[in-house]
Amino acid sequence: MNGGQAQTSSANCDRQITLGLETRFGPNWTGRRCGAKTRQGTACQKPTLKARTRCQLHGGKSTGPKTVEGRQRVSEAHYKHGRRTNTQVTADRERAQLNREIRAALRERINMMIQDGTLPKNYRP
Ligand SMILES: [Zn+2]
Repeated sequence: MNGGQAQTSSANCDRQITLGLETRFGPNWTGRRCGAKTRQGTACQKPTLKARTRCQLHGGKSTGPKTVEGRQRVSEAHYKHGRRTNTQVTADRERAQLNREIRAALRERINMMIQDGTLPKNYRP
């Protein structure tokens, strides 16, 4: 009695090893791995999806929105408060530049008034 298991000859064993080489997953697996950065800072070890460079957990399935409506929908889904939109950031930069110019002009006038004697020498606005 052999417990109901089939006999494993050395030839059969070699065939089984050869068959499993392409699908076996382990530290010496030769296939393509995902490599995305995980939360631990290490590279993801999962195999990639076919014809992709990432696993299904790291964006391998998604190819992104293609249609105009789809892109618009994703954009609206990510929109939170509008403080970092291109138009808002541009407006903030222009306003900051205007404020810098105003402060420089004010500083210049104060220095002129200090030199005239209108303001004391230790004047601080
Ligand atoms: Zn991954």
